[in-house]
Amino acid sequence: MRFISLLIASTVFSTSVLANEVNVYSAREEQLIKPLLNAFSKDTGIKVNLVTSDDDPLLERLKREGTNSKADVLIMADAGRLARAVQYGVLQPIQSPRLQQVIPAYLRDPAKRWFGLTSRARVIFYAKGRVNPNEIKSYEDLTAAKWKGRICVRSSNSIYNQSLVASMIAHQGEAQASQWVKGLVQNFARPPSGGDRDQIKGLAAGECDIALGNTYYYAQMLFGGDSSQKAAATKAGLIWPNQSTTGTHINISGAGITTSAPNKANAIKLLEYMTLDDAQRWYSTVNGEYPVTNKALTSAQLQSWGNFKADTLNLGELGKYNQTAVKLMDQAGWR
Ligand code: FE
Repeated sequence: MRFISLLIASTVFSTSVLANEVNVYSAREEQLIKPLLNAFSKDTGIKVNLVTSDDDPLLERLKREGTNSKADVLIMADAGRLARAVQYGVLQPIQSPRLQQVIPAYLRDPAKRWFGLTSRARVIFYAKGRVNPNEIKSYEDLTAAKWKGRICVRSSNSIYNQSLVASMIAHQGEAQASQWVKGLVQNFARPPSGGDRDQIKGLAAGECDIALGNTYYYAQMLFGGDSSQKAAATKAGLIWPNQSTTGTHINISGAGITTSAPNKANAIKLLEYMTLDDAQRWYSTVNGEYPVTNKALTSAQLQSWGNFKADTLNLGELGKYNQTAVKLMDQAGWR
């Protein structure tokens, strides 16, 4: 009898609740988020409505929709863009003891408006056989005259490059960062074009001897199914920059909850779900990213590259210095 009344109560409850759902705006490729969202729905019974687009159009859409937006969660692939979302006023601070506890402080907004969910390093790649990796210990070393005409890097439009320069401004000040940008541009092998993978391909093709790129692109080339990409990546070795100084520059993919969020409680549940061990391990294995919660969840493939010291500058600083970074890159002729 007691069982039956409980059953009735729970049925009444579930039909009286409005749609049990959460709306996600995501700048990640669909295949890099959908399996996780499906697992979340299966485990919680919360339906996920996913809108996928590029970072900037998604941010503009959210800004335009304002308080009428149906979006609950915003997922971006860079801390610089999460900072932009904060500037647009589209994210709200949230209280989640779990997120505060499992995500290291430097990978989340001190004001609790966004949280890093996966991390990646921006590293230096060298052409095996043409460069002695011991000759390069830091990003700063790349401005030496001997690397003239030998460096491949994508355009200054890339938020990844903007964030790297912003981190240098935060550490060294604008004047010194400006010198570095100028020195780097003088050593370019070719006008910047393409993405991070194209820089590694350029290195493999002999167009340059050094390339800058994010670790997950290298992982996907090395460990993914494409044999020509694998062949190119195999010709590149990885250097962890700034191990005896500030640490290697780190960035995140991360998420925040919108100011308008109609399903805030579900949105918090989803962010917390993405910090569970299974989710963190999945990202490391499938996308070649580093877990934010626990190094032990790193895929065996990434672990084969060894440990490294990460720059623990709070990633909120990247947004703070983004405009100055863009200015320095413009002034130096980094197109
Ligand atoms: Fe990327």
